[in-house]
Amino acid sequence: MMLINNTFLRYRYVNTDMPNRNTHAIIGAISSGLTYAVECNRKNQNPKPEEMLQAAAGGAITGIVPDVLEPATNPNHREFFHSILFGAGVGKGAQKAEKLNLTEKQKIMLKSLSAGYLSHLAADATTPKGLPVAD
Ligand SMILES: [Zn+2]
Repeated sequence: MMLINNTFLRYRYVNTDMPNRNTHAIIGAISSGLTYAVECNRKNQNPKPEEMLQAAAGGAITGIVPDVLEPATNPNHREFFHSILFGAGVGKGAQKAEKLNLTEKQKIMLKSLSAGYLSHLAADATTPKGLPVAD
């Protein structure tokens, strides 16, 4: 039963194609834009369309950063900046931003941009190569 389930999950959720730069930019923009909206709601901040667009534009950029740092020149290009360890660090850094001397909107923007970066790792994680743990 477990084997059948695993086979089903692999068939259903594992991409066989590597996401390209445009795909990462789009996923990053959506992730950052949504994070902006969710965080504004969570923190009782008034969301503004132009800020949401800025978050989305920023997410399109942070969404491609891992492949800028480690270009997809071969199937084993994913190293430290694609690692689960670095992704966890980005997440932890976004969490720690709460304690910085920034406005609520700046904190929301930092989290949104982090979401763009993390969306890249999430998309790459669905491919057969997955992500390295630490390097
Ligand atoms: Zn990548």
